[in-house]
Amino acid sequence: MDLKKAQYFFLRKSALRCLRILLIDTREGHFCLFEHSFPAITFDSVTSIQQAAAAVCAADALLITAGAGMGVDSGLPDFRGNDGFWKAYPVAARLGLSFVELANPAWFEKDPHLAWAFYGHRLNLYRRTMPHPGFATLLEWAAEKSEGYFVFTSNVDGHFQRSGFDADRVVECHGSIHHFQCTDGCAGNIWEAGEECVTVDEIVFRAANPLPRCRDCGAMARPNILMFGDGSWVADRSHAQEGRFSQWLRTLEKKSARLTIIELGAGTAVPTIRYTSESVARRLRGNLIRINPREAHVPEGCFSVATGALDGIRQLEEAL
Ligand SMILES: [Zn+2]
Repeated sequence: MDLKKAQYFFLRKSALRCLRILLIDTREGHFCLFEHSFPAITFDSVTSIQQAAAAVCAADALLITAGAGMGVDSGLPDFRGNDGFWKAYPVAARLGLSFVELANPAWFEKDPHLAWAFYGHRLNLYRRTMPHPGFATLLEWAAEKSEGYFVFTSNVDGHFQRSGFDADRVVECHGSIHHFQCTDGCAGNIWEAGEECVTVDEIVFRAANPLPRCRDCGAMARPNILMFGDGSWVADRSHAQEGRFSQWLRTLEKKSARLTIIELGAGTAVPTIRYTSESVARRLRGNLIRINPREAHVPEGCFSVATGALDGIRQLEEAL
C-alpha cells in the first residue's frame, strides 16, 4: 500500500459527517486498511449540519435552487470542463467542439442534423433517466411549508416537474429541453415536445430525418433552451415563471415569512443560481444552505455542506 495515497483517501473521505478510520497494522510487516464510520468528524461540521437542518425545519417557506450538480447523482453527465464534456460526447472531442461551441443556435442552420444529434441525445437521455431520490425528499419538506415553495433551476431536464413539483412553482432560467420553438421566430410560440421523437445515430452523431419542425411555419424547430450566443431564444415561458416567482417573494416579504434556501450543485462557472440564492437570502433575510462538493464557500452566516446533492440531502434528512 502506498501510504501517501492512503492519507489522501483519508482526507478526501473525511468530509463532513462520516469519518473513515484508517488503521495501519505493521506488526506483521503488512499494511492493512480498516474503515469504520463514525458520526461526526469535527464539532463544527456536526453543528453546521444540525443548524442547517433546524433552519429547514423552522422555515415557513422553502426555496430550492439547483445547478448541474443536482443531476449528476441521477447519472446525468457532468459537462464541467472540456474533459467532462468530451467524456460524455466523444464525437464532440473528435470534431474539436467544446460545450460552448456545440451548444450554439448557429448549428441549427449550419448543420441541423448535428445540432439535433446533440439536443436529441440529451432529450432522450433526460426522458429515460429517473431523478434520484433526493428530489422526492425535497418535495416532502417543501409540501409541508405553510407558505409553500419555489424551485429556481438552470437545469433544462424537467426533473423537478417529473418528481412531482408543481410546474407553476418552478423557474427554469435557461429554459426546458421538453419545449420547442421555431428557429425562424415566426410566431414566437413555444410548444411542448410531447411525444415527439428524435432518433440519433450515436456512432456518427447525426440525427435522422424527420427532424422536429415548427408547428406554425414548418421551419426547423429547436429546443426552447437558452444557448450560448443565443439571440433568438424565446424567453416568454421563463419570464412567466420568473413573474410567478417574484410575486411569491413579494408575498413572503409582506408576511415576514421565514425563508430557507437550499442550493444544490450550483458552481461558479455560470453563477446565475448562486447569485439568485445569495440575493434572495439577503433580501428576505433567509437562511442559505449551500450543498456543493467543490465550491462550498458561502457568505458569512450561511451554511456550507461540502458534499454532492443527494448526499447533502440525506445528511440533512438524518439530522432533521
Ligand atoms: Zn416557425
